[in-house]
Amino acid sequence: MLPMIVPNPSLASLTESASDALGRFSGCPPEWFAAAPGRVNLIGEHTDYNAGWVLPIAIDRYTVLAAAPGAEATQLRVRSLAFEEEGVLSLDALDIPHPTPWMRYLQGVVVQYRRKGIECPALDIAVASSVPPGGGLSSSAALELAMAHLLESVTGQSLSSAARIDASIEAERQTAGVPCGMMDQTVVESAHPEHALLLDCADKTVTFVPFRQVEVTLLVIHSGVSHSLAQSAYAQRRDECERGARALGVSTLREVGLSDLRALDDELLRRRAHHVVSENARVQRSAAALQRCDWDTLGALMVDSHTSLRDDYAVSCDELDVLVRLAVAEAGVYGARLTGGGFGGCVIVLIEPERLEAVADSIGRQYAEQVGWAPTNYRIRSAAGAHALCAAL
Ligand code: ADP
Ligand code: MG
Repeated sequence: MLPMIVPNPSLASLTESASDALGRFSGCPPEWFAAAPGRVNLIGEHTDYNAGWVLPIAIDRYTVLAAAPGAEATQLRVRSLAFEEEGVLSLDALDIPHPTPWMRYLQGVVVQYRRKGIECPALDIAVASSVPPGGGLSSSAALELAMAHLLESVTGQSLSSAARIDASIEAERQTAGVPCGMMDQTVVESAHPEHALLLDCADKTVTFVPFRQVEVTLLVIHSGVSHSLAQSAYAQRRDECERGARALGVSTLREVGLSDLRALDDELLRRRAHHVVSENARVQRSAAALQRCDWDTLGALMVDSHTSLRDDYAVSCDELDVLVRLAVAEAGVYGARLTGGGFGGCVIVLIEPERLEAVADSIGRQYAEQVGWAPTNYRIRSAAGAHALCAAL
């Protein structure tokens, strides 16, 4: 069977799935709903921890929570359609990380809101999602921010958007135990449809850049691999960047230009820094290209980004390189690059809409021949950030 584009359920149908699931497991109709999108980064890879810039969009794949008052006092009972096991969290014992890893993302949000004086009451919650877990499209931030909005609906108490982002980041870092950056939660919370978000990771300022997806569309292809190297290499790259900055006498690589890098004697550190400095410049140029709908330039910058990640930063892998090579050989493709940390995960392809199906089919066929398995294709549009939904269905 050849890989087709994975169907993209509407927000309404996900809401219905969550509602049905809640009815089946708790027997109660939902009183509250919240939804949060996944995200994809157009360009700006490994720049966030160097106080640089990133250019992500929220995508039209969502995590939806439906909730009713809890049947058991002091318990959060959760049923996710993505996992077999039901999660039960005692609201009296929030200090111990939950034994079920996926429950920790929800627990973390409950813990952070409690610290801000907002108490989670007993709830039954059902989770329906079209963001694949662990697929590089930030299902974790979607889950956290949907939970944050749900809690605010239930309690009638609200945080500012910035505090909500911080609560979700800290939930993931402290309770789920994942040392995440700030990009995912910021874009999942703050995004506007038909816009990318230019995020300055030094001071967290956001500039919205119009992204008109009439002449172009985005295809995200999951390579089907996730190499175990990713975590150790991530820590190593961070260390190399810090060493490079120290050797140049600055606190972050944001502060230097390409010509400054000649002062770096160490060839390896120079290459790592070259990626970061050149990628920051590409993000700025990409934002300008988006603004004027200059798809050729944006596509070329995406390909340059991939080359830099492959050659200077050494975080690509054969499967991602094959996907990018196949993509850019197709008519109607403006550009392609790996998106996310690398060593597997996804590539993103900027493409003429009418070529979408044919290109996905052709890349999938050749990839399967060369690599031995089919990739997974998602058609992506930019979407709005996390929000509560009206409960009246
Ligand atoms: P990504 O954010 O790229 O999808 P992560 O590893 O950061 O990958 O987060 C994936 C984890 O988030 C899952 O393993 C699971 O613990 C949690 N998660 C994501 N989506 C769901 C869901 N629909 N239901 C329950 N847990 C989820
Ligand atoms: Mg994540």
